[in-house]
Amino acid sequence: AQGAVNFDVAALAGRSVPAPPEGVSPAHTDLATYRAHGGYQTAAALVNGEMDAEAVLSAMEDSGLRGLGGAGFPAGRKWRIVREQAAPRLMAVNIDEGEPGTFKDRTYLERDPHRFLEGVLIAAQVVGTESVYIYLRDEYHGCRALLQAALDDLRAQPPCPLPHIELRRGAGAYICGEESAMIESIEGKRGEPRMRPPYIAQVGLFGRPTLEHNFETLYWVRDIVERGPQWFASFGRHGRKGLRSFSVSGRVKHPGVKLAPAGITVQELIDEYCGGMLDGHQLYAYLPGGASGGILPARLNQIPLDFDTLQPYGCFIGSAAVIVLSQHDSAREAALNVMRFFEHESCGQCTPCRVGTAKAATLMEAPQWDEELLDDLAQVMADASICGLGQAAPNPIRCIHKYFAHEVGEGPWPGDLPKPRNSPLAEQLPAGV
Ligand code: SF4
Repeated sequence: AQGAVNFDVAALAGRSVPAPPEGVSPAHTDLATYRAHGGYQTAAALVNGEMDAEAVLSAMEDSGLRGLGGAGFPAGRKWRIVREQAAPRLMAVNIDEGEPGTFKDRTYLERDPHRFLEGVLIAAQVVGTESVYIYLRDEYHGCRALLQAALDDLRAQPPCPLPHIELRRGAGAYICGEESAMIESIEGKRGEPRMRPPYIAQVGLFGRPTLEHNFETLYWVRDIVERGPQWFASFGRHGRKGLRSFSVSGRVKHPGVKLAPAGITVQELIDEYCGGMLDGHQLYAYLPGGASGGILPARLNQIPLDFDTLQPYGCFIGSAAVIVLSQHDSAREAALNVMRFFEHESCGQCTPCRVGTAKAATLMEAPQWDEELLDDLAQVMADASICGLGQAAPNPIRCIHKYFAHEVGEGPWPGDLPKPRNSPLAEQLPAGV
């Protein structure tokens, strides 16, 4: 687990299926190989009544597995809630991996599609969902071909009776990664988030109770059932439990998907899993959760990265996309970039988000920020937007005020901070700073 580069999933998880060496284009594990290593035995035992569904559900609850798409809702609890709803129940799987900096789902899907599909079968059986809709990001052309082939193979040689499974193609909208917008899109409508309640566990796809999961959440189900809930919960650092797949990018020597203990700090992640910072670069800032999760300064490099741990700092881990910035970058430029992204991806349904992101991006272009106006705008967006996009969009504004005020003319440049080379204010800095 401590290897500098991981695609060390097989080693960490104690699997017998070898992972490809670094730099080698991975061939995915096909059905024959997957079954030769015990694949689909758990799903078949469950479907054939040789395994108790309630025991599987308890294992899921005890493992502490949480929704790994970003929301972090306990997976086992979600299964129980949906299972208690009236039939027919449906399942919707979110592989619309659009959060900037996130590429873990694609990485796993390209290597081990049947491990994910077995998780789908187990969840469908335990919760009693009669149909499964898999929503795949439009840009993932290769993944679609691979997943379709894996489904064809599975149907040709089914290990047990299969539920109805449909592979649906997204159309490139970031907002369709939001669960209710995804459901609207699957129904053939414009991808706009719904107001809640009712929650989709009760009234979801086509008006039916719906179990919605991110790809990676289902990817871990087989291992948890076979190895026991303690196996998954035995990982973790700094008081946190479980495994997290960090998509690390930016100024590190070895970016990529790093399967690491929940609660690891960004400094530990960089040093132990990424081979350290690139030569000539030192940590200046990092985005702990892609575009939505805010921006933190280097001095806060010892915070455990997990659900719930970053809220006191105005940030969140989301889908665990860690973007590392150095003294050659500018936090304010990153924040502006993120706001322009939100402006572009706002679905336009509600005014605080549609107008607020555009207004914020314009205000953030000024070398010196109007702190009072931006704060007011951020508050309105956070309070009055319908969904998480508009509610999280002000995070970068608040982080810049809080941690990088020196970059927007709100305070002196701290002497111990490295100076981003491309900051608009860099030329105004005192000589020698
Ligand atoms: Fe659409 Fe933004 Fe409103 Fe969400 S917050 S519903 S993305 S306009």
